[in-house]
Amino acid sequence: MATELLYRDDAYLTEAKAVAFAIGPEGVILDRTPFYARAGGQPGDAGLLVWEDGEMAVTEALKGPEDGVLHVPAEGASLPPVGVTVTAKIDWAKRHRLMRMHTSLHLLCSLIPGAGVTGGQIGLEKSRLDFDLAEPPSKEWLTEKLNELVATDAEVSERWISEAELDENPHLVRTLSVKPPRGSGRIRLVRIGPEEAPIDLQPCGGTHVRRLSEIGTVTVQKLENKGKQNRRVYLTLSE
Ligand SMILES: [Zn+2]
Repeated sequence: MATELLYRDDAYLTEAKAVAFAIGPEGVILDRTPFYARAGGQPGDAGLLVWEDGEMAVTEALKGPEDGVLHVPAEGASLPPVGVTVTAKIDWAKRHRLMRMHTSLHLLCSLIPGAGVTGGQIGLEKSRLDFDLAEPPSKEWLTEKLNELVATDAEVSERWISEAELDENPHLVRTLSVKPPRGSGRIRLVRIGPEEAPIDLQPCGGTHVRRLSEIGTVTVQKLENKGKQNRRVYLTLSE
């Protein structure tokens, strides 16, 4: 049974009631969850499952079998009984920071148009994107432009499009390493800025802030040369 992914419609949902329907030593699968399961370079959420007479600390949510989200228990944590209703609570401080980092990477992507993204990793302390690029801009220029974009406080929105619509607009796909998930018939398109002049527009299944001002100050720390055309760009947040 697939888990309903509540964060997709509301990335600001910090807790939700759910039923624990598959439980094993590797983790707990819920019928619905606000937990983001590790994917696309974004770590899975940590948090807590609470039920009537117990609770289980979750170290990370991972993709489980059959589109279920696996809530991995902390070592030695007691597991909920099958069929019990739990309140699933995410570690919001951690998630919000990852959302700020993740949205910053969209902005970084928009500043290096035309270069394919060959990899990426989102972390709490720093995040990176790899670009297929011979001559990267300087870190000072990138830092300045990133903070100019944040200062516009543009809105981040999502809408679903059909796979056919994506096929008609192949330029929307920037990532060469991670293809948007296919087969469900629809693709989630994330847009930063107004429809008539978006700052960034691409398929993405991750979690984003609603407005750019939530990101705060961004700094591009360093650029690394990772092979012939591969430039790795690291950024961090001020707090
Ligand atoms: Zn995204």
